[in-house]
Parts: sequence; C-alpha cells; structure tokens
Amino acid sequence: MPERPVLIDSFGRRVSDLRISITDRCNFRCGYCMPAEGMQWLDRSELLSFEEITRVAAICVERLGFEDIRITGGEPTVRAHLPALVAMLSDLRTKAASAFDLSMTTNGASLALLAGELRRAGLDRVNISCDSLHPERFAEVTRRDQLSRVLDGIDAALEAGFSKVKLNVVTMRGFNEDEAVDFARFGRDRGVEPRFIEFMPLDADASWSMEKVVPASETVDAITKVFPAEVVDAGADPARRYRYLDGKGSFGVIPSVTQPFCATCDRMRLSAEGQLRTCLFSTSEHDLRALLRSGGSDAEIEAAIRTAVGQKWAGHRIGKVTFIRPSRSMSQIGG
Ligand code: SAM
Ligand code: SF4
Repeated sequence: MPERPVLIDSFGRRVSDLRISITDRCNFRCGYCMPAEGMQWLDRSELLSFEEITRVAAICVERLGFEDIRITGGEPTVRAHLPALVAMLSDLRTKAASAFDLSMTTNGASLALLAGELRRAGLDRVNISCDSLHPERFAEVTRRDQLSRVLDGIDAALEAGFSKVKLNVVTMRGFNEDEAVDFARFGRDRGVEPRFIEFMPLDADASWSMEKVVPASETVDAITKVFPAEVVDAGADPARRYRYLDGKGSFGVIPSVTQPFCATCDRMRLSAEGQLRTCLFSTSEHDLRALLRSGGSDAEIEAAIRTAVGQKWAGHRIGKVTFIRPSRSMSQIGG
C-alpha cells in the first residue's frame, strides 16, 4: 500500500482534520453565535455546491492525508439533500482507499427526521449541541422553545447506531455552570459523552467577556466530586477526556480559552462560500472558491491549501491585549 501523504505546518503540526461548513443559515439563534435578527445570508450561488465540497475533501484526503472530515454550519441539517452530500463524501473512502472519519455537528432539532438516513448514507458520528436541560433556559439561549425536539434528536441518533454520540455544551457564567453534574448524569444514563466548551469571543452580539468564561477546571472539579473520574490521554483531540472510575462512560472539556490547545491543533476550516481558514480566530482567509470556479487543477488547489497551512498561526491570543476579534461569528466561520 502506498504511504499516506501528510500535511505539516511551519510549526511542525500535522494538519489532518477538515471542518466543512455547508451553510451559514440556521433554525436557531443561539445568543453566543448569532444575533436575534438581521443576519445577512449568503446567496445560494455563493455556496459551494456538493460537487465542489466533495472535490476539496477528496484533495484533502487523497493528496494531503486528512483523517477527519466534519460537516458543520450554520446548521447543516437546514441544507437541502444533506444525505446526498454525506453519501458523496462517504464514497471517497472507497475511491481513495483511504480511511477517514466522517462526522457532523448539529443542533439536533431535525435529527428525529434525518438520523437514520444520515447513518445509512455513511455518517459515522454526530455531536449534538445542547446547553441546558431546563426548557426555559434552553429557549433563552437558542431563542427557540425546542428542547424536546433536541432530546428526541439525541434519542434518534442513539437509535440510528452512530459509533459515538457526543453533546456539545457551551458553559457560561451565570447561565448554566450549575448544570455540569446534570449533564454528566444525563450522559451516563443515555450513553452519550458531554463535552463542555468554554465560551469563546465569536458571538455576533460581541457580548463575550472573560468573566463569562467558566474555566474547564471548575467543570471537572464539580463533576468528579460526584462521579470520580480519571484523565484519558486523547492525543491531538482538543477535548481533555475523563473516564468515570465506575466504567459508566466519559466526559470531556474543551478549555479553548483558559488552556488553548493551539500547540497540537490539527484543524483547518472551509466556510460555506469556500474560504479556507487555518484558525477559528484567523483574520484572513484563502479563497478556494475562486480557484475552483476558474478551472483550477487538483494540483493548484492542493498548492493553495499547502500555502494557507504554511501560514497557520502558532496560536490565538484570547485574553491578551494583542487579540483581534474575528469579524465573523461562529455560524459564519463554521464551528
Ligand atoms: N449548528 C450546529 C450546532 O450548533 O451544533 C453546528 C454549528 S455551531 C457554530 C458549532 C458549535 O460551535 C456548537 O457546538 C456551538 O455550541 C459552538 N459555538 C458557537 N458559538 C460559540 C462560542 N462563541 N463559544 C463556544 N462555542 C461556540
Ligand atoms: Fe445555529 Fe449552531 Fe449557531 Fe446555535 S450554535 S445559532 S444552532 S449555528
């Protein structure tokens, strides 16, 4: 078998995880991500087509050795014919004879309808976002009264047989820091892994402040007091994972603000309109869509990706005076 290619950045990090945003639209309006109204949506013609997305993914897998592809947004399930895209991406595994993990991050509200179809189309794993188990808090953060739909979505994902179902929980001071143990219990009972993400300055409302960040260490302390757990070595995974000592599963924390994982970051992001970003907090982007639509060859697209990755930062500077807040919110970048 030929050796798998690798893509190494100028700090010696291997870049092997591609996050593909397939839409900037969403059926929720989470306060830490989108304003209540007034978003300017991309025109359909600006979005990469399924063929264009699959072409970039193929180049990443076949020529650059990527091992993880995650579909995200905006909310990926609002894009029409999503299972067809999943099937096109999943098919690359047979053509490229190279294995990669295909996953999706979703708010879960449409999974009761879609989970089975997505699983059959080849999706391996899902992360479902849910920041509160209290209906009124959930409605406050998402500006949609739909906790029960998301809980049904979690059940549907479990039933569909994904290899792993994780819950993304953004922790915010004064909002849900008292729910860490409840989420841990929920995860243990249902067989899902909660991952607590520190609130990052990527909200469209610019309401972020350091005081609203709940340090991951606080979340770990709260949970392990009730459910003793030990650290699991997770390699390049930004989540620090903990396994319960009684064998009833695991949880993770993503301390992006208090203990950034930049030194082992293996990610690259493609926005819905085909802009490549090598860091969530990048202030510049690389226009792959222009290359795709002007007849660029696979070799030229590969070269553009290599150039972008060559400029990948050592790390973000949240909390430092030199930090520059990106002008785009998480939903526009692709979380
Ligand atoms: N709509 C999907 C969802 O909510 O899962 C996928 C896109 S969303 C932008 C991806 C992830 O980013 C979600 O888990 C969301 O909670 C997280 N996120 C969005 N804004 C964030 C912020 N300011 N800080 C931390 N995480 C954020
Ligand atoms: Fe939509 Fe996800 Fe952003 Fe919430 S976090 S507004 S569900 S894109």
